[in-house]
Amino acid sequence: MTQLIDTFGRGHDNLRISVTDRCNIRCFYCMPEENVKFEPREHVLSFEEIERFVRIAAGLGVRKIRITGGEPLVRKDLPTLIRKLSAVPGIEDLALTTNAVLLAAHAQELYDAGLRRINIHLDTLDRARFKKITRRDELHRVLEGIEACRRIGYGPIKINAVAVKNLVEPDIVPLARFGREHGIEIRYIEFMPLDAQGLWLRDKVLSADEMIAMLSREIGPLEEIPDRDPRAPATEYRFTDGIGSVGFIASVTRPFCLNCNRLRLTADGKVRYCLFAIEETDVHGLLRGGAPDEAVADAIRSCVGGKWIGHQINSQQFVPPPRPMYSIGG
Ligand code: SAM
Ligand code: SF4
Repeated sequence: MTQLIDTFGRGHDNLRISVTDRCNIRCFYCMPEENVKFEPREHVLSFEEIERFVRIAAGLGVRKIRITGGEPLVRKDLPTLIRKLSAVPGIEDLALTTNAVLLAAHAQELYDAGLRRINIHLDTLDRARFKKITRRDELHRVLEGIEACRRIGYGPIKINAVAVKNLVEPDIVPLARFGREHGIEIRYIEFMPLDAQGLWLRDKVLSADEMIAMLSREIGPLEEIPDRDPRAPATEYRFTDGIGSVGFIASVTRPFCLNCNRLRLTADGKVRYCLFAIEETDVHGLLRGGAPDEAVADAIRSCVGGKWIGHQINSQQFVPPPRPMYSIGG
Protein backbone atom coordinates (compact mmCIF):
# COMPACT_ATOMS: atom_id res chain seq x y z
CA MET A 1 0.00 0.00 0.00
CA THR A 2 1.45 3.32 -1.01
CA GLN A 3 2.13 6.01 1.57
CA LEU A 4 1.97 8.61 -1.18
CA ILE A 5 -1.64 9.74 -0.93
CA ASP A 6 -2.53 13.27 -1.95
CA THR A 7 -5.17 15.56 -0.50
CA PHE A 8 -7.74 14.22 -3.00
CA GLY A 9 -7.18 10.63 -1.86
CA ARG A 10 -5.19 9.51 -4.90
CA GLY A 11 -2.44 6.99 -4.18
CA HIS A 12 0.81 7.24 -6.15
CA ASP A 13 2.68 4.07 -7.08
CA ASN A 14 3.80 4.98 -10.58
CA LEU A 15 7.00 6.91 -11.34
CA ARG A 16 8.24 8.12 -14.71
CA ILE A 17 11.93 8.85 -14.83
CA SER A 18 13.57 10.99 -17.48
CA VAL A 19 17.18 9.92 -17.98
CA THR A 20 18.09 12.70 -20.40
CA ASP A 21 16.54 15.74 -22.07
CA ARG A 22 18.56 15.13 -25.25
CA CYS A 23 17.08 13.57 -28.36
CA ASN A 24 18.22 12.37 -31.77
CA ILE A 25 15.10 13.60 -33.61
CA ARG A 26 13.09 16.82 -33.37
CA CYS A 27 9.33 16.17 -33.25
CA PHE A 28 7.72 19.58 -33.80
CA TYR A 29 5.16 19.07 -31.00
CA CYS A 30 7.92 18.54 -28.47
CA MET A 31 11.19 20.21 -29.43
CA PRO A 32 12.27 23.29 -31.33
CA GLU A 33 14.01 22.61 -34.65
CA GLU A 34 17.30 24.22 -33.68
CA ASN A 35 19.23 25.67 -30.77
CA VAL A 36 17.70 23.39 -28.16
CA LYS A 37 18.92 24.29 -24.70
CA PHE A 38 19.92 21.06 -22.96
CA GLU A 39 20.91 20.53 -19.35
CA PRO A 40 24.70 20.44 -18.93
CA ARG A 41 25.63 16.74 -18.75
CA GLU A 42 27.21 17.08 -15.32
CA HIS A 43 23.90 18.33 -13.95
CA VAL A 44 21.92 15.29 -15.10
CA LEU A 45 21.31 12.71 -12.35
CA SER A 46 23.75 9.79 -12.39
CA PHE A 47 22.51 6.18 -12.45
CA GLU A 48 23.52 5.86 -8.80
CA GLU A 49 21.45 8.94 -7.88
CA ILE A 50 18.45 7.63 -9.84
CA GLU A 51 18.76 4.20 -8.22
CA ARG A 52 18.88 5.75 -4.77
CA PHE A 53 15.82 7.86 -5.53
CA VAL A 54 13.97 4.75 -6.73
CA ARG A 55 14.89 2.79 -3.58
CA ILE A 56 13.50 5.61 -1.45
CA ALA A 57 10.37 5.94 -3.61
CA ALA A 58 9.85 2.16 -3.51
CA GLY A 59 10.00 2.40 0.29
CA LEU A 60 7.10 4.84 0.07
CA GLY A 61 5.04 2.53 -2.14
CA VAL A 62 6.15 3.17 -5.74
CA ARG A 63 5.81 -0.08 -7.69
CA LYS A 64 5.92 0.85 -11.36
CA ILE A 65 8.70 2.63 -13.22
CA ARG A 66 8.82 3.93 -16.76
CA ILE A 67 12.08 5.21 -18.23
CA THR A 68 11.66 8.09 -20.64
CA GLY A 69 13.30 11.32 -21.81
CA GLY A 70 14.22 13.12 -24.15
CA GLU A 71 15.27 9.99 -25.92
CA PRO A 72 16.40 7.47 -23.27
CA LEU A 73 18.51 5.46 -25.72
CA VAL A 74 20.88 8.38 -26.29
CA ARG A 75 21.92 7.96 -22.65
CA LYS A 76 25.02 5.76 -22.55
CA ASP A 77 24.81 2.33 -20.89
CA LEU A 78 21.06 2.40 -20.32
CA PRO A 79 21.01 -1.39 -19.74
CA THR A 80 23.12 -0.77 -16.62
CA LEU A 81 20.33 1.38 -15.20
CA ILE A 82 17.68 -1.18 -16.20
CA ARG A 83 19.63 -3.85 -14.34
CA LYS A 84 19.97 -1.67 -11.23
CA LEU A 85 16.29 -0.69 -11.16
CA SER A 86 15.01 -4.23 -11.80
CA ALA A 87 16.84 -5.27 -8.65
CA VAL A 88 15.26 -2.64 -6.37
CA PRO A 89 13.00 -4.40 -3.84
CA GLY A 90 9.36 -3.43 -4.36
CA ILE A 91 9.64 -2.53 -8.05
CA GLU A 92 7.23 -4.84 -9.86
CA ASP A 93 7.08 -3.31 -13.27
CA LEU A 94 9.70 -1.61 -15.44
CA ALA A 95 8.98 -0.18 -18.89
CA LEU A 96 10.65 2.06 -21.47
CA THR A 97 9.29 4.72 -23.83
CA THR A 98 11.51 5.34 -26.87
CA ASN A 99 11.45 6.78 -30.37
CA ALA A 100 13.17 3.50 -31.41
CA VAL A 101 15.73 5.13 -33.72
CA LEU A 102 18.52 3.38 -31.81
CA LEU A 103 16.47 0.42 -30.68
CA ALA A 104 17.55 -2.27 -33.14
CA ALA A 105 21.10 -1.96 -31.84
CA HIS A 106 20.13 -2.02 -28.14
CA ALA A 107 17.01 -4.18 -27.90
CA GLN A 108 18.79 -7.43 -27.05
CA GLU A 109 21.03 -5.87 -24.42
CA LEU A 110 18.03 -4.17 -22.78
CA TYR A 111 16.09 -7.43 -22.79
CA ASP A 112 19.02 -9.23 -21.20
CA ALA A 113 19.09 -6.54 -18.52
CA GLY A 114 15.48 -7.38 -17.59
CA LEU A 115 13.35 -5.05 -19.73
CA ARG A 116 10.17 -6.61 -21.17
CA ARG A 117 7.70 -3.80 -21.73
CA ILE A 118 8.31 -1.17 -24.36
CA ASN A 119 6.33 1.71 -25.86
CA ILE A 120 7.54 2.90 -29.22
CA HIS A 121 6.71 6.32 -30.49
CA LEU A 122 5.60 6.28 -34.14
CA ASP A 123 3.03 8.64 -35.64
CA THR A 124 3.05 7.54 -39.25
CA LEU A 125 4.16 4.78 -41.61
CA ASP A 126 4.66 7.35 -44.36
CA ARG A 127 8.27 8.36 -44.85
CA ALA A 128 7.58 11.92 -46.00
CA ARG A 129 5.22 12.64 -43.09
CA PHE A 130 7.62 11.05 -40.62
CA LYS A 131 10.27 13.44 -41.89
CA LYS A 132 7.94 16.40 -41.69
CA ILE A 133 6.96 15.60 -38.08
CA THR A 134 10.37 14.61 -36.72
CA ARG A 135 12.57 16.71 -39.02
CA ARG A 136 14.68 13.58 -39.54
CA ASP A 137 14.59 10.76 -42.12
CA GLU A 138 14.65 7.83 -39.71
CA LEU A 139 11.44 5.86 -40.31
CA HIS A 140 13.33 2.79 -41.53
CA ARG A 141 15.30 2.60 -38.28
CA VAL A 142 12.15 2.82 -36.16
CA LEU A 143 10.61 -0.06 -38.14
CA GLU A 144 13.83 -2.07 -37.69
CA GLY A 145 13.60 -1.40 -33.95
CA ILE A 146 10.01 -2.67 -33.80
CA GLU A 147 10.97 -5.77 -35.75
CA ALA A 148 13.93 -6.43 -33.43
CA CYS A 149 11.65 -6.25 -30.37
CA ARG A 150 9.17 -8.67 -31.92
CA ARG A 151 11.95 -11.10 -32.80
CA ILE A 152 13.44 -10.98 -29.31
CA GLY A 153 10.09 -11.54 -27.65
CA TYR A 154 9.25 -8.26 -25.91
CA GLY A 155 5.69 -8.10 -24.70
CA PRO A 156 3.59 -6.16 -24.74
CA ILE A 157 4.93 -3.82 -27.42
CA LYS A 158 2.79 -0.71 -27.80
CA ILE A 159 3.03 2.15 -30.25
CA ASN A 160 2.39 5.75 -29.15
CA ALA A 161 1.09 7.99 -31.91
CA VAL A 162 0.52 11.71 -31.33
CA ALA A 163 -2.71 12.85 -32.92
CA VAL A 164 -2.43 16.29 -34.52
CA LYS A 165 -5.37 17.52 -36.56
CA ASN A 166 -4.98 18.33 -40.26
CA LEU A 167 -1.81 16.28 -40.30
CA VAL A 168 -2.11 12.65 -39.25
CA GLU A 169 -5.66 11.81 -40.33
CA PRO A 170 -4.24 9.62 -43.18
CA ASP A 171 -2.19 7.67 -40.60
CA ILE A 172 -4.85 6.68 -38.08
CA VAL A 173 -6.23 3.70 -40.01
CA PRO A 174 -2.92 2.39 -41.48
CA LEU A 175 -1.36 2.39 -37.99
CA ALA A 176 -4.28 0.40 -36.57
CA ARG A 177 -3.99 -2.07 -39.47
CA PHE A 178 -0.26 -2.38 -38.80
CA GLY A 179 -1.01 -3.04 -35.13
CA ARG A 180 -3.61 -5.68 -35.95
CA GLU A 181 -1.19 -7.41 -38.29
CA HIS A 182 1.70 -7.47 -35.82
CA GLY A 183 -0.08 -7.92 -32.48
CA ILE A 184 0.81 -4.41 -31.31
CA GLU A 185 -1.60 -2.04 -29.55
CA ILE A 186 -1.61 1.44 -31.07
CA ARG A 187 -2.22 4.17 -28.50
CA TYR A 188 -3.30 7.46 -29.96
CA ILE A 189 -2.32 10.44 -27.80
CA GLU A 190 -4.18 13.70 -28.20
CA PHE A 191 -1.82 16.58 -28.96
CA MET A 192 -1.14 18.36 -25.65
CA PRO A 193 0.06 21.92 -24.99
CA LEU A 194 3.62 20.86 -24.18
CA ASP A 195 5.50 21.84 -27.32
CA ALA A 196 8.52 24.08 -27.11
CA GLN A 197 7.37 26.62 -29.67
CA GLY A 198 3.88 27.40 -28.38
CA LEU A 199 2.24 25.89 -31.48
CA TRP A 200 -0.57 24.11 -29.63
CA LEU A 201 -4.11 25.23 -30.27
CA ARG A 202 -7.24 23.43 -29.24
CA ASP A 203 -8.37 23.04 -32.81
CA LYS A 204 -5.13 21.20 -33.63
CA VAL A 205 -6.21 18.34 -31.35
CA LEU A 206 -7.50 15.30 -33.22
CA SER A 207 -9.89 13.92 -30.64
CA ALA A 208 -10.38 10.34 -29.48
CA ASP A 209 -14.02 10.52 -30.66
CA GLU A 210 -12.95 11.53 -34.16
CA MET A 211 -10.40 8.71 -34.32
CA ILE A 212 -12.85 6.12 -33.02
CA ALA A 213 -15.28 7.17 -35.75
CA MET A 214 -12.59 6.81 -38.44
CA LEU A 215 -11.48 3.39 -37.22
CA SER A 216 -15.02 2.05 -36.88
CA ARG A 217 -15.90 3.28 -40.36
CA GLU A 218 -12.77 1.99 -42.12
CA ILE A 219 -11.91 -1.18 -40.19
CA GLY A 220 -14.91 -2.24 -38.15
CA PRO A 221 -16.77 -1.68 -34.89
CA LEU A 222 -14.87 -1.09 -31.64
CA GLU A 223 -16.04 -1.89 -28.13
CA GLU A 224 -14.57 -0.56 -24.90
CA ILE A 225 -12.62 -3.22 -23.02
CA PRO A 226 -14.33 -3.80 -19.64
CA ASP A 227 -12.55 -4.21 -16.30
CA ARG A 228 -9.42 -2.42 -17.32
CA ASP A 229 -7.31 -0.69 -14.69
CA PRO A 230 -9.23 2.56 -13.99
CA ARG A 231 -5.93 4.32 -13.23
CA ALA A 232 -4.39 3.58 -16.64
CA PRO A 233 -4.31 6.75 -18.78
CA ALA A 234 -5.45 5.01 -21.97
CA THR A 235 -9.07 4.06 -22.63
CA GLU A 236 -8.79 0.78 -24.49
CA TYR A 237 -11.05 -0.63 -27.17
CA ARG A 238 -10.98 -3.88 -29.11
CA PHE A 239 -12.19 -4.56 -32.60
CA THR A 240 -15.31 -6.69 -32.38
CA ASP A 241 -13.89 -9.09 -35.00
CA GLY A 242 -11.45 -10.15 -32.27
CA ILE A 243 -8.34 -8.88 -34.06
CA GLY A 244 -6.41 -6.37 -32.02
CA SER A 245 -7.05 -3.40 -29.81
CA VAL A 246 -6.33 0.32 -29.73
CA GLY A 247 -6.02 2.82 -26.88
CA PHE A 248 -6.68 6.54 -26.59
CA ILE A 249 -4.85 8.87 -24.24
CA ALA A 250 -7.38 11.65 -24.42
CA SER A 251 -5.83 14.12 -21.99
CA VAL A 252 -7.59 17.05 -23.65
CA THR A 253 -11.09 15.78 -24.44
CA ARG A 254 -11.40 13.18 -21.65
CA PRO A 255 -9.07 14.23 -18.82
CA PHE A 256 -8.29 11.40 -16.42
CA CYS A 257 -6.74 13.49 -13.61
CA LEU A 258 -9.09 12.11 -10.94
CA ASN A 259 -7.49 8.67 -11.34
CA CYS A 260 -3.90 9.88 -11.68
CA ASN A 261 -1.33 7.77 -9.81
CA ARG A 262 1.81 9.20 -11.44
CA LEU A 263 4.84 11.13 -10.32
CA ARG A 264 7.76 12.23 -12.46
CA LEU A 265 11.47 12.67 -11.87
CA THR A 266 13.17 14.95 -14.40
CA ALA A 267 16.70 14.40 -15.67
CA ASP A 268 17.86 17.38 -13.61
CA GLY A 269 16.39 16.00 -10.39
CA LYS A 270 13.01 17.68 -9.95
CA VAL A 271 9.96 15.76 -8.75
CA ARG A 272 6.71 16.71 -10.51
CA TYR A 273 3.16 15.66 -9.66
CA CYS A 274 1.80 16.41 -13.13
CA LEU A 275 3.00 16.88 -16.71
CA PHE A 276 1.39 20.30 -16.58
CA ALA A 277 2.55 21.31 -13.09
CA ILE A 278 4.02 24.77 -12.74
CA GLU A 279 5.81 24.01 -9.48
CA GLU A 280 8.29 21.21 -8.85
CA THR A 281 10.26 19.85 -5.92
CA ASP A 282 14.03 19.76 -6.08
CA VAL A 283 15.83 16.57 -5.07
CA HIS A 284 18.99 17.18 -7.06
CA GLY A 285 20.59 19.11 -4.24
CA LEU A 286 19.53 16.48 -1.70
CA LEU A 287 20.80 13.53 -3.74
CA ARG A 288 24.09 15.18 -4.61
CA GLY A 289 24.60 16.97 -1.32
CA GLY A 290 24.60 13.85 0.85
CA ALA A 291 21.21 14.45 2.48
CA PRO A 292 19.78 11.46 4.38
CA ASP A 293 17.15 9.22 2.77
CA GLU A 294 14.49 10.67 5.05
CA ALA A 295 15.04 14.16 3.60
CA VAL A 296 14.51 12.80 0.07
CA ALA A 297 11.42 10.91 1.25
CA ASP A 298 10.09 14.14 2.80
CA ALA A 299 10.60 15.96 -0.51
CA ILE A 300 8.62 13.26 -2.35
CA ARG A 301 5.83 13.40 0.25
CA SER A 302 5.72 17.16 0.07
CA CYS A 303 5.42 17.05 -3.74
CA VAL A 304 2.52 14.61 -3.48
CA GLY A 305 0.94 16.68 -0.69
CA GLY A 306 0.88 19.74 -2.95
CA LYS A 307 -0.68 17.98 -5.93
CA TRP A 308 -3.51 19.83 -7.59
CA ILE A 309 -6.84 18.30 -8.55
CA GLY A 310 -5.96 18.32 -12.22
CA HIS A 311 -4.71 20.26 -15.22
CA GLN A 312 -6.75 23.15 -16.53
CA ILE A 313 -6.25 22.67 -20.28
CA ASN A 314 -9.95 23.15 -20.83
CA SER A 315 -10.25 26.37 -18.85
CA GLN A 316 -9.42 29.98 -19.67
CA GLN A 317 -6.96 30.00 -16.78
CA PHE A 318 -4.68 27.36 -18.33
CA VAL A 319 -1.01 28.28 -18.24
CA PRO A 320 1.38 25.89 -20.04
CA PRO A 321 4.20 24.54 -17.87
CA PRO A 322 7.53 26.35 -18.07
CA ARG A 323 9.22 23.25 -19.53
CA PRO A 324 8.32 21.55 -22.81
CA MET A 325 7.73 17.80 -23.09
CA TYR A 326 11.32 16.76 -23.82
CA SER A 327 12.57 18.51 -20.72
CA ILE A 328 9.89 17.07 -18.40
CA GLY A 329 9.91 13.50 -19.66
CA GLY A 330 6.74 12.30 -21.35
N1 SAM B 1 11.67 10.15 -26.94
C1 SAM B 1 10.78 9.16 -26.44
C2 SAM B 1 9.54 9.06 -27.31
O1 SAM B 1 9.37 9.90 -28.18
O2 SAM B 1 8.77 8.14 -27.08
C3 SAM B 1 10.38 9.39 -25.00
C4 SAM B 1 10.05 10.79 -24.59
S1 SAM B 1 8.69 11.52 -25.43
C5 SAM B 1 8.61 13.12 -24.69
C6 SAM B 1 7.34 10.61 -24.71
C7 SAM B 1 6.05 10.64 -25.46
O3 SAM B 1 5.54 11.95 -25.44
C8 SAM B 1 6.17 10.29 -26.92
O4 SAM B 1 5.86 8.94 -27.08
C9 SAM B 1 5.17 11.18 -27.61
O5 SAM B 1 4.16 10.36 -28.07
C10 SAM B 1 4.65 12.07 -26.52
N2 SAM B 1 4.57 13.50 -26.84
C11 SAM B 1 5.57 14.37 -27.05
N3 SAM B 1 5.10 15.62 -27.24
C12 SAM B 1 3.74 15.54 -27.14
C13 SAM B 1 2.68 16.49 -27.20
N4 SAM B 1 2.90 17.79 -27.40
N5 SAM B 1 1.41 16.03 -27.04
C14 SAM B 1 1.17 14.72 -26.82
N6 SAM B 1 2.13 13.79 -26.72
C15 SAM B 1 3.40 14.19 -26.88
FE1 SF4 C 1 12.43 13.31 -29.05
FE2 SF4 C 1 10.42 11.93 -27.98
FE3 SF4 C 1 10.34 14.62 -28.05
FE4 SF4 C 1 10.12 13.29 -30.31
S1 SF4 C 1 8.68 13.21 -28.59
S2 SF4 C 1 11.47 15.08 -29.95
S3 SF4 C 1 11.40 11.56 -29.95
S4 SF4 C 1 11.76 13.39 -26.90
